Amino acid sequence: MTHITESALLDAVPSTLFIGGRWEAAESGRTLAVFDPATGAVLKHVADAGPGDGLRALAAAASAADDWAATAPRVRGELLRGVFELVQKRTDDMALLMTLEMGKPLSEARGEVAYGGEFLRWFSEEAVRITGRYGSNPEGTGQMVVSQRPVGPAFLITPWNFPLAMATRKIAPALAAGCTVVVKPAELTPLTTLYLAKLFEEVGLPAGVLNVVTTSASAALAEPIIADPRLRKLSFTGSTPVGRTLIRQAAQNVLRTSMELGGNAPFIVFADADLDKAVDGAVAAKFRNIGQACTAANRFIVHRSVAPEFARRVVERVAEFTVGRGTEPETTIGPLITESAVEKVDALVHDAVARGATLLVGGRRRAGEGSFYEPTVLTGVRAGSDILREEIFGPVLAIVEFDEEAEAVALANDTEYGLVSYVFTENLARGQRMIDRLDTGMMGLNVGVVSNAAAPFGGVKQSGLGREGGAEGIHEYLSTKYTLIPGSTGL
Ligand code: NAP
Repeated sequence: MTHITESALLDAVPSTLFIGGRWEAAESGRTLAVFDPATGAVLKHVADAGPGDGLRALAAAASAADDWAATAPRVRGELLRGVFELVQKRTDDMALLMTLEMGKPLSEARGEVAYGGEFLRWFSEEAVRITGRYGSNPEGTGQMVVSQRPVGPAFLITPWNFPLAMATRKIAPALAAGCTVVVKPAELTPLTTLYLAKLFEEVGLPAGVLNVVTTSASAALAEPIIADPRLRKLSFTGSTPVGRTLIRQAAQNVLRTSMELGGNAPFIVFADADLDKAVDGAVAAKFRNIGQACTAANRFIVHRSVAPEFARRVVERVAEFTVGRGTEPETTIGPLITESAVEKVDALVHDAVARGATLLVGGRRRAGEGSFYEPTVLTGVRAGSDILREEIFGPVLAIVEFDEEAEAVALANDTEYGLVSYVFTENLARGQRMIDRLDTGMMGLNVGVVSNAAAPFGGVKQSGLGREGGAEGIHEYLSTKYTLIPGSTGL
């Protein structure tokens, strides 16, 4: 349990922009309010940056770029490692802060501190493993040297659902690669990023390497930054529609882009699945983060012979949940992020029921303060229901039944998304066929959570471009340089 009070913690969070190593108010003097989604109360006001502030942050990142690129990889790595250590020490505070501004239960927030912190450690280790290659050209007339260079100043835009991990998953590889950054967290959850910036300051990160701008006008702030020729990289995590807009804007200067976009994950349960594993996996893949994860299982595609038993067991587990403010120790399901999120989820449930689905539990918002939605299970969801096409982003488990393996594959692939898929089968050959046949960037075979700092996280189709984490993650921030040296082959 954390010992700090909520108000002392909130007081410890900076309320201004972090630009060029200084904490500064927005040029306009404006601030924005950050709310607790469990109560609707204002937690804190922070600076509300405008386009001028964004460009100042980019200028700071651009002027620090050469020195940072020339900083020894070991030094870059040690600074990241230092922040990793601080995050470990401040786990309780960071977890509470995320619970306050985003709503997730404290136990899950602690899990995110562990997961998010791990990117700092992983990339502190990767910083010193940036390699190239060397060899004779095929003609034997010269040496070919291939090296990796930092791509340059990067603009990092993060969503509200994992306030720490989505930031560290970008900041850590960028800094490890030798890139300076401007980070723009979501308006709904800026506090965790501001707190994190303070930790970077504490370990002595040089001024301008990391800059943070918080704003209520993300489009107005982002557009001039993306249009500025000093920017060389855009990394975005968020919804597919916003991702499309940003790709269009990035095309103007042919920016390198990484896009971690939406998902519509299928969760297939075959007749030969171990139902204990499948139900555990379903609870993790659906209800973690109150269903507000890009990796959340969106469509449960369950073999007709096991669907009633699977549904019965899932409903049993849902009955054990406690809905409440994430700060309460017994809470397992917190609030949704906003009132409009509740309305969207409710509309999806109503549409599914109107088209013939059976509501087994939940199906309504919780009365009283805060934006809560009851954990819900629907079965017999019919083709054409909106819930099969759209990201639910809420605690609603929707079951569709199938008979043949090919039908399950067709249903799973029937989406423009392709981030992650979950498959439950005890038949190894069938599991291997699914690896081949599902259009997906990631897959969990008999497991409901796949995220890991050592894994290349990312999607295919309209779930995005590029990978975060793993050995691949740092390459998003590196560009390849080839040099030919005629004369000696060196061999
Ligand atoms: P969002 O509305 O797309 O916002 C994401 C970020 O982009 C926020 O910081 C937002 O700022 C900013 N933004 C919105 N419009 C912008 C614009 N025109 N120009 C520049 N920035 C803009 O998404 P969200 O609702 O926060 O997050 C949920 C989505 O993220 C879901 O679709 C989820 O699947 C996806 N997601 C994907 C991954 C992944 O790794 N693939 C991980 C987590 C989440 P403001 O909110 O302040 O406007």
